[in-house]
Amino acid sequence: MPIAKWKIKGIVDDYDTCGCCGRRGLKRTVALMPLDADGNEDGTPEDVAYYGTSCAATALGWTQGKVTDTARAAQAEQNQRDNYARRMISIYAPVEFAPVRDKARVYYGRNPHQRTRGVKASEEVAKLLDEARATLADTTTGPARPSRIEDFRRYLVIFTSDERILLVHSLPEEEAECQEQTAAAQRRANQIRCTVRIVAALDAEAARDVAYADELTREWNTKAWQAAHA
Ligand SMILES: [Zn+2]
Repeated sequence: MPIAKWKIKGIVDDYDTCGCCGRRGLKRTVALMPLDADGNEDGTPEDVAYYGTSCAATALGWTQGKVTDTARAAQAEQNQRDNYARRMISIYAPVEFAPVRDKARVYYGRNPHQRTRGVKASEEVAKLLDEARATLADTTTGPARPSRIEDFRRYLVIFTSDERILLVHSLPEEEAECQEQTAAAQRRANQIRCTVRIVAALDAEAARDVAYADELTREWNTKAWQAAHA
């Protein structure tokens, strides 16, 4: 079996030309990152090659089926990293420029063991945000994903009386419509003894995290959304 000189990074739906044979109109291509002699990734997104599955199979000495399966798995991993990055940004970007004390309360509130280990909250928040932004800015398998507070959307989250999430609903941009939907949800929630929280986040998954977060995190979340839409 030939030694792989490439690592499959994912599947690309919006790039339809094989970088190996030049064939056009492909349904998808796979993103291939060159590897150095020791098998480490050797390059930046600009060095990534996009091959059709058949040329990728030849280049790697694999079957097309293995190429497709590996590419799907790599893409699923990338999507998970994106989801995690959106959660980190939705939680921490609003406190990025908050007073150190608030930042520390938010961070240690979520990571209580880090305090005893002497991990500095400010440094850790900065690091988490850097990594999350880099993840979403990575264009290996598609265009950069939104990552700013300005990209947050508002979500209405309904909690049951035992603090489980019953429903997450994205609210419209338009203010009057948004208030109308919120009021309607509030009425319905009261009837079934549920509570409503409005949070801002990069997606619905991240909105769940923000909704579950402590009061201080949610306060800063609201402030950040308001500042971005003032
Ligand atoms: Zn080709």
